[in-house]
This record gives sequence, structure tokens and C-alpha cells, in this order.
Amino acid sequence: QPTPTTRRQFTKSHKLDNVLYDVRGPVVDEAARMEAQGTNVLKLNIGNPAPFGFRTPDEVVYDMAHQLTDTEGYSPSKGLFSARKAIMQYSQIKKLPNVTIDDIYTGNGVSELINLSMSALLDDGDEVLVPAPDYPLWTACVTLAGGTAVHYVCDEQSEWNPDVEDMERKITDHTKAIVLINPNNPTGAVYPKEVLEQIVEVARRHQLMIFSDEIYDRLCMDGIEHTSIASLAPDLFCVTFSGLSKSHMIAGYRIGWMVLSGNKALGRDYIEGINMLSNMRICSNVPAQSVVQTALWGHQSVNDYIVPGGRIYEQREYIYNALNSIPGVSCVKPKAAFYAFPKLDKRFNIHDDQQFALDLLKEEKLLIVQGTGFNWIAPDHFRIVYLPRIEDLKDAVARMTRFLEHYRQ
Ligand code: PLP
Repeated sequence: QPTPTTRRQFTKSHKLDNVLYDVRGPVVDEAARMEAQGTNVLKLNIGNPAPFGFRTPDEVVYDMAHQLTDTEGYSPSKGLFSARKAIMQYSQIKKLPNVTIDDIYTGNGVSELINLSMSALLDDGDEVLVPAPDYPLWTACVTLAGGTAVHYVCDEQSEWNPDVEDMERKITDHTKAIVLINPNNPTGAVYPKEVLEQIVEVARRHQLMIFSDEIYDRLCMDGIEHTSIASLAPDLFCVTFSGLSKSHMIAGYRIGWMVLSGNKALGRDYIEGINMLSNMRICSNVPAQSVVQTALWGHQSVNDYIVPGGRIYEQREYIYNALNSIPGVSCVKPKAAFYAFPKLDKRFNIHDDQQFALDLLKEEKLLIVQGTGFNWIAPDHFRIVYLPRIEDLKDAVARMTRFLEHYRQ
């Protein structure tokens, strides 16, 4: 019989050895400990609109309540017909080529589908090109699926657009796909059509699939029209992701989708894999699926937030100017979503940006996420979520300014 001192330990699987997800990592754990002890922490770390007073459109809540008794059972694995029909029409408006209702999968957020799409694709040693910086779930899911995320650089000097030459240089015989996050988290970049066309050319030359995470496509500011890369690539096999977490402030309801488009014959076997994994998880949250049609086609309340006078727009203006006025900090203007990714100059001598985030948290009770948490290549950036109201953002900037006045590593 094992005695208490020789008790067997249960360790996590080696599949997780290189998996990182620092948006909710050790610094956040420390913030939770501080809060448990009664400290107030100003949290600018998670892109979750509802707690900052962004309300779900009433008609969405009303429709879900109205349909609750009809959505008690499982739905078909890919999702309700009404939801997929609405997503198909949305895909047509975005000019995604060759999409039928069978090419649409709903998920418990885009997150579930990122995981599913990578698990179905990758064998050990397969490589996927992922942006740096990225939304780190992409790198995590590639790694968890046994693949290797190879990071191509997005260029701060060029409005954070992907460096297409770097992307092409990093292609090997093992590369299967390119991931794009457009609009981008954490930089707020929106990629111009010419850049997307260059990426399509690269994918074409090297016979790669394209995965495009477009969850912020309805949050572009300054009159920018978002282009889905799949619309430029009818001859390639593309998968496009979007959802309602951000545009409809219902991150908690868990509803997202992915759309297969273009030359699907290239992915016949892969699609069988996707279908199997989709069947295995049975279906996504059905009450949340039931509001997709209403959400996509009614009044788009998010539009009021992203124009001059609207909260997201005005908060973006404030944070962009305020960050750039802190000595040693510079920031490219975000064009979409609600994140900024400022740079810290050399005077701070930062070589461990997780330590920087921890020091800031402990000293100023301000929570941000360090840039390397987004697989950025150097410890010289951080991400700030500008969802809080301007009074709170002012407070955050004051704390950051005070901290950086003396901080050196
Ligand atoms: N993709 C990007 C780029 C994100 O920023 C997020 C959430 O922050 C997600 C996907 C996940 O969204 P969902 O709530 O649909 O799982």
C-alpha cells in the first residue's frame, strides 16, 4: 500500500510542455491573489466587453430568452440551420467564394474551432506560419496538436502589417498553412488588400492553406472596409473564423463559427477529420446559436461605438495620444478592435517583460499583458485593453507614467 509520503503524483501531459497562454497566466494569478486579499487591481488584460459596461443589444437577449425552450436539445453537429444560413449570407456579403451551408461550423466561441481545426490538420513535425505578435491561442493550439508554430514578423514600422518576405523565407517542406489574424489582436492592425494579395500569392506558390481569424471584422474604425483574404483566393482552400463575442458583447454566451471556402477539393480528407471532431463534441451551445440570425442582421449596435463620439473610438483616441505622451513609450495607432500594443524604449533595459508586468502590478495595481505573451520576439512591448472608460484609462496612464519614471531592470 502506498504511504502518504510515497503517494503517486499526477503530472500534466507532455503535450502541454510547450503550450503557453499568458493572457490568463502567472501575472493574472498574482492579480487574483492580490484581489483575494482585498487589493483593488485596475485590469486592462482581457478583451471582454461586458464587464466594462458594453451591453448586448436588447433584441439579442430578447431573442435568446424567447427561444430558450426550443433550444433545450442538441442541434446538428455543425449547428442550427437558421444560424448557418445567416452565416452563409454573411459570407456572401464578405465575398467568400464557393460556400455552401455544409461548409459552416458553429463553435463554443472561435476558440473551440481554432483548437478543432488545428487538431484535425497537424501531425508531429508539421509547421504552421503564425504571426508575431499573435493572439496566443493560435500558437498554443498548433503546439498542442503536435505541430510547430513558426512565427513570421509583423512590422511595426509598416503599421504592423505582415512582413511577407519574412513569411516566405520561413516556409519549409513541412509548412502546411498560414495563419492570419486580421484585424489583429494585439496590434489593432487591419491589413490592406494589396498585402493580402501578396500573401495569397505566397500561399499559391507554396500550396498552403490559409486560416484567417476575423473575429474583429465588424470593429474597424476610420471608415476602413475589412477584406476577407478568402475572397481573394478562390483557387486555394481557406478557413475563415468569426463570431459574436466582440461585435455583440456576448463573449460569455460562447458562439463563433468557421467557414470553409475556395477549392475545397484540396481538403477532402481534412474535412473528414474536421467532421469527425465536430461530431465528437456533439454541437455548440444551442441557445447561443439561436441568436446568430438576429445578431448578424438587425441593427448593429457596435457601429455606434466605433465612430467619432462612440465609446470605443473615443477611448482609442485617448489611449493612443496618452500612451505616446509617456516618455519612452510609442504606439502605432490601432485601426480596429480594442487593444493597443505599445513599445518600451531601451532606457528601461527590460530583459524579462513578465517581470515588468509583475513589478507594475505589485507597485501600481495595474494589470497588463507582456508582449512576449503574444509570442512577440523581444521583451519590449505590452498590450493594453482600452475597453474601460476614459476616467479609468486616465488613471491607468497616470500609474504607468509614475511607474516608468523610475523603473529600470
Ligand atoms: N481570436 C482572437 C483574435 C481573439 O482575440 C479572441 C478573443 O480574445 C478569440 C479568437 C476567441 O474568441 P471567442 O470568444 O469567440 O472564443
